[in-house]
Amino acid sequence: MKPKKHQGKKDFKYSKKYLDYKRQKKNKYLKKKRVIKKLKLRLFLLIIIVLFSGFMGKKLLNMYKDFTTPIPNESVTTTKNFSKYSKFTVTIDPGHGGYDVGTSTIDGMMHEKEITLKIGLEVKRLLEEKGVNVIMTRTSDNVSWPSNNKKDLRARVKISNDSNSDAFVSIHCNANENTAHNGMEGWIRFPNTQSEKLAKNIINKLSSYNYTKNRGIKNESIKSLAVLTLNNSTATLIELGFLSNSSDAKFLTSKEGQAKSAKGISEGVLEYLSNKD
Ligand SMILES: [Zn+2]
Repeated sequence: MKPKKHQGKKDFKYSKKYLDYKRQKKNKYLKKKRVIKKLKLRLFLLIIIVLFSGFMGKKLLNMYKDFTTPIPNESVTTTKNFSKYSKFTVTIDPGHGGYDVGTSTIDGMMHEKEITLKIGLEVKRLLEEKGVNVIMTRTSDNVSWPSNNKKDLRARVKISNDSNSDAFVSIHCNANENTAHNGMEGWIRFPNTQSEKLAKNIINKLSSYNYTKNRGIKNESIKSLAVLTLNNSTATLIELGFLSNSSDAKFLTSKEGQAKSAKGISEGVLEYLSNKD
């Protein structure tokens, strides 16, 4: 029961009992307030902890996902497509070079070694674009072999054999006293071989440009060529045309003709590699 405020009319002071009651009530109120304040603080901290751990948890989960999620199949396929030819090594041999100019145009203005180098370098670029590993017997007129025809040809073959090439293509231009002679030829050692397939693929691509006639595939029974007989790889020597013939020479000395020659050779090589067992 709540004590009375006054004991009587004469007593102006509060009774002791009343004051105790008031103090107790105040203390209780303060205690309650402190407890509520504490609870509020704990609740606040709890919310902060929950929110923080949730955020960190999500972050950690994402990091875990990044480490464990496999690379999408799409990119694997892209890499595979790009490297379809990357298992192959092809040696490109721009004929002649350095001390040996090869044959020349009738006016003597351009040598075979210049034409074969330009075309050879373009073949290299086109094949590398498709992922093929390309080895060149020479990339400039500064040849790595001595000025000796036998050592020259052996050095070219050694480069091819050392690189264990899947295909070897020697690029040349022909010449004849009879300026009416024209046409392209593919040379190999033996018929019905991988080399014949390689040569045919190249000659077929080249002849699709119709710049000269197709003289076909020729083999060792007609003439043996050192870069082929000593070679361990599937190998061919391509005679692109006759520099002694004005029409063939016009094509082979032109930028357009050289670009087409390089395109034909590289496409023939790629077709051969695509169908290789
Ligand atoms: Zn030649």
